[in-house]
Amino acid sequence: MGSVGAKEVPVLLTPDGRRIDGRTLDELRPIRIEAGALHQADGSAFVEWGANKVMAAVYGPREVHPRHLQQNNKAVIQCRYNMAAFSVDERKRPGLDRRSQEISKVIAEAFESVVFAEEYPRTSIDIYIEVLQANAGTRCAGLVAASVALADAGIPMVDLLPAVAVGKVGGAIALDLRKEEDNYGEADLPMALVPQSGRLVLLQMEGHMTEEELARSLDLGVQGCRTIYEKMKAALRERYAVGPPAGGAA
Ligand code: UDP
Repeated sequence: MGSVGAKEVPVLLTPDGRRIDGRTLDELRPIRIEAGALHQADGSAFVEWGANKVMAAVYGPREVHPRHLQQNNKAVIQCRYNMAAFSVDERKRPGLDRRSQEISKVIAEAFESVVFAEEYPRTSIDIYIEVLQANAGTRCAGLVAASVALADAGIPMVDLLPAVAVGKVGGAIALDLRKEEDNYGEADLPMALVPQSGRLVLLQMEGHMTEEELARSLDLGVQGCRTIYEKMKAALRERYAVGPPAGGAA
């Protein structure tokens, strides 16, 4: 531990470029994706990503609630990202705070770019994301889980939406930040990619970095997204190799 003022700051990067958990700068945390983890939902997925545990459930297309949100020419995509009170070290106050509302909004908007919503006018596609255990990168884990859950529900989409956060830690650009890196690093840059077109449909940044570092971060993040994309497809293949749900389309 080093110290800055009164705050104890862990050493984030060793001289040989290893991170706090031994990873290299371009290394993802281990990821496990299970498609169809819940029986009640139309589509679902569970994602364990490092110490994150995130469940996503999708319902729809179904009737719109509240009714006034209904659109005559397309489905509305609604998302509720929620962090369980027990998901973090210091108990989080239950309920939707500003952060959860913001994350719900940016995730719904990201999916608006890939779901063929015009195929289901006057309906709602509802995405629920429950963070059971959090260790940074939960919005990205939520996007990955929700994306696999949408595919599991048979919702037509241009593509899956892999997501990952890149950041700056100990002066270096690093892929997939864990909690200490997110807390004490210089920048955090979550992104979501449409792999087919190479379009980014979510990009946020906290902290600061140079233009050149930003360009490198984007390259690293896109590479990371492409690796995660393969894992998402593998999870769906595994699900449907075992057997599709009754009446469901593969
Ligand atoms: N976090 C927390 N309490 C909160 C919100 C966040 O402990 O009320 C932690 C949690 O581990 C989360 C991390 O801080 O994953 C980073 O949060 P951020 O807002 O950057 O979102 P995320 O990286 O999870 O998408």
